[in-house]
Amino acid sequence: MLTNLMNLFYPHCCEACGLSLTNSERYLCLSCFGKLPSTNFLHWPENPVAKMFYGRVDLKMAAATYYYHKDSILQRLVHRFKYKETPHLAVWFGKCMGEQFLEAGIPILFDAIVPMPLHPQKYKVRGYNQAEELARGLALKLQLPLMADYLRRKSYNNSQTRKGRVDRWENVEGIFEVRDQGTASCKHVLLIDDVVTTGATMESAAQALLPYVDALSIVCLGVTA
Ligand SMILES: [Zn+2]
Repeated sequence: MLTNLMNLFYPHCCEACGLSLTNSERYLCLSCFGKLPSTNFLHWPENPVAKMFYGRVDLKMAAATYYYHKDSILQRLVHRFKYKETPHLAVWFGKCMGEQFLEAGIPILFDAIVPMPLHPQKYKVRGYNQAEELARGLALKLQLPLMADYLRRKSYNNSQTRKGRVDRWENVEGIFEVRDQGTASCKHVLLIDDVVTTGATMESAAQALLPYVDALSIVCLGVTA
């Protein structure tokens, strides 16, 4: 009754199609949720994201859960949780990612989840790090510790957006550092980010983490397709 009343005053609508949601739905109606393009990479060790890092960084596993197409529902939602003060939407997506891990039936061998850090300047403007909110949802679902401050971003690279792919690889090198080197109780860390495109930033973060962990895996919500 209370929920129905609340819905009357604060109607919950599907973020994609605008239809009102039932009590069991959140953010997306079942139909739109079903239309999100799953990659099934968690079932597929030799997937394109894993291949992105072959020969560059030694990972136990790498995957993305959805294809990220231009002008898609997913792109709109990622934009929403990045720029429209909706960290809870990122937490929800993190839980969806966790659901995919559980459905894939792969043993959860990670000891902690580390989010891709946001530069402090951006954090100040946004008020949260969307990768950390994704990590929060995933950590909740998989019942793993979240180490939000383990990895830090050192410098701001203004020129990065103007550079081409080749330059970008060099430009993100060495921009991350492990903050809390003493607390390396982390045997197998899962690094998480929102969308992976070239993998350059992920690789840089992975290089910073590797000396301090026994094993490293990577997961992203989306991969550009
Ligand atoms: Zn919908």
